[in-house]
Amino acid sequence: MGSALEGSLTAGTRPEFVEHIDACRPCRTYLSQLTTTVQSLGSLPRPRTNNPRRADLVEQFRRQTRRDEPSS
Ligand SMILES: [Zn+2]
Repeated sequence: MGSALEGSLTAGTRPEFVEHIDACRPCRTYLSQLTTTVQSLGSLPRPRTNNPRRADLVEQFRRQTRRDEPSS
């Protein structure tokens, strides 16, 4: 995982979330894709998934990116 994303996720994120990402390759891949999406769009789209865990990942990720977003 990229150091920037890793630092973002480990700062103030729910421990179980971090642990899951650390242990779950599919979710790491998913988060990587989310990161790319955020960087290209400048925002995070609503999750297009019926997977509750993925939806939770998006929600956690949204909180992180919102916290880290520059207020421009
Ligand atoms: Zn997972």
